[in-house]
Amino acid sequence: MPTSEITLYGAHWCPDCRRSKQFLGEHQIPYDWIDIEEDPAAEQLVIEKNQGKRIIPTIVFADGSFLVEPSNAELAAKLGLKTTASRSHYDLIVLGGGPAGLTAALYTAREAIDTLVIERAAFGGQAAGTEKLDNMPGFPDGVAGIEFSNRLRQQAERFGVELLQAQEVAGVGIHDNYKFVRTGDGSQYTARALLIATGSRYKRLNVPGENEYIGAGVHFCATCDGPFYKGKQIAVIGGGNSATEESLLLTKFADQVTILVRGGEFKATRIIQDKVLSHPKIQVRWHTEVKEFIGAESKLTHLRVQDNRSGQEETIPKDGAFIFIGLVPNTKFLEDSGILLNRWGFIVSGHNLVHGGSRPAGYRKRDPFLLETSLPGVFAAGDVRDASTKQVVSAAGEGSTAALAIREYLRLN
Ligand SMILES: Cc1cc2nc3c(=O)[nH]c(=O)nc-3n(C[C@H](O)[C@H](O)[C@H](O)COP(=O)(O)OP(=O)(O)OC[C@H]3O[C@@H](n4cnc5c(N)ncnc54)[C@H](O)[C@@H]3O)c2cc1C
Repeated sequence: MPTSEITLYGAHWCPDCRRSKQFLGEHQIPYDWIDIEEDPAAEQLVIEKNQGKRIIPTIVFADGSFLVEPSNAELAAKLGLKTTASRSHYDLIVLGGGPAGLTAALYTAREAIDTLVIERAAFGGQAAGTEKLDNMPGFPDGVAGIEFSNRLRQQAERFGVELLQAQEVAGVGIHDNYKFVRTGDGSQYTARALLIATGSRYKRLNVPGENEYIGAGVHFCATCDGPFYKGKQIAVIGGGNSATEESLLLTKFADQVTILVRGGEFKATRIIQDKVLSHPKIQVRWHTEVKEFIGAESKLTHLRVQDNRSGQEETIPKDGAFIFIGLVPNTKFLEDSGILLNRWGFIVSGHNLVHGGSRPAGYRKRDPFLLETSLPGVFAAGDVRDASTKQVVSAAGEGSTAALAIREYLRLN
C-alpha cells in the first residue's frame, strides 16, 4: 500500500526506472517504489493507465495524474521545480545550494545584492542527506539534516534569493568584465561575481558491476535508500566516519550489516567505533576488498570479495551495498575555466594563491581576497575548497565569509 504522494511503478531491470529513482532520491522527494514483477495488482494498474501496454516507469501522483517514462526535465516540471531564472544577469550567482552556498546567498540578498543560486539536486547538499546533525551549535538535541536544509532554504527565500533547482552548471568563465555561467539546458547567465559552492561527492570503487547496479543494489546514501532494505542483508564498504555512522543508521532497516574494511582498523572516532563493534546487527570483515558487484536480472545479488592478505576470494550474498570511501570535489565543470585547482581537484583560494609575493595573472593591483580564486571576482566556499574542514558549520561559516568579501569586491568594481 503506497504511503507517499508519489508512487513509482517499475521493475528492477529497467534503466529508466533507476534514472527516475535517482532523480527523486537526489531531490529528496519521498516516493513509494513498487516492482510490478512482484505485485500483479500493480502490474494491472500500470496496464490500465497505459491503455493495455505495460510501460514503465509509470509515476502516479497524489491527484491521480501520472507520467509515463518521463525525462528528468518533465519530472522536474511536474514537481514544480523552478529550472529557469527570471533574468539573465545578477550581481552574484552562487553555484551549489548546500550549506555554504545558501548561507552566502542569504547574507548577500539581505544586503540587497541580487543573488541567484543554481542547484542541480536538493537544497542542503550533503547535509540534506544526513539523518541527524549532532554537532550544530544551537541545537542541543541535534537536528535532522533535512530539517536544517529546509530551514536554510526558507531563510534564503525570505531575503529574496532566487533559487533554481534540477539545473546543473556545465561551465563558467569570464567574458569582458562579466562572469558567465552555462547550465545543462544550454542557458547562459552573467553576473558581476560568482561563488562556487558545489561541494563534493562520494568516491566510487571503480570495480565491475558498480555502475551497472547503482540504484539497483549499489547505493551511496543510507537516508535515501536504506528504507528499501527492511529485513535484508547488506554490506557497507569503508572504514571511516561515514561508513561507521551510516552503518548504525542502516541497522534500523536491515537485519544484518556487514562492514567490509580494506585495512585492519577503523578510521573513525572512538565513540562511534565502540558503538559499531558492540552492535548486535553489525559484523566487521577486516582486510577485505570488493572486487566485483554481481547480480541477476539487473539487481545486485552478490559481492565478490578478496582477503588482501591471503588473496583468497569469496562470493558473498547481499541484497544491497552502501559505499562510503571518501569524497571527490564537484569541480569537473571548471576544467577549462582557468581556475586553479589542487592535485585532487579542490579549488585553491586566498593567500594560498600568492607565492613569494607573486600573484596570479589578473591580480595586478591587489592580493586575492580571502576565499577568492585565481580568477578575480570568482570565490569558493565550503567542501569544494582546498583546505576546507568538511563540516556543515565551517561550510556555512565560509559562505558568510565569502559573502562579506564579495560585498567588498562589488563595492570596488
Ligand atoms: C554521510 C555524511 C554525514 C555527515 N555528517 C555531518 C555531521 O554530522 N556534521 C557536520 O558538520 N558535517 C557532516 N557532514 C559533512 C557536511 O554535510 C558537509 O561538510 C557540508 O554539507 C558541505 O557543505 P557545502 O555547501 O560546502 O557542500 P555540499 O553540501 O556538498 O553542497 C554542494 C551542493 O552543490 C551542488 N552541486 C554540485 N555540483 C553542481 C553543479 N555542477 N551544478 C549545480 N549544483 C551543483 C550539489 O548538488 C550540492 O547540493 C556529513 C557528510 C556526509 C556525506
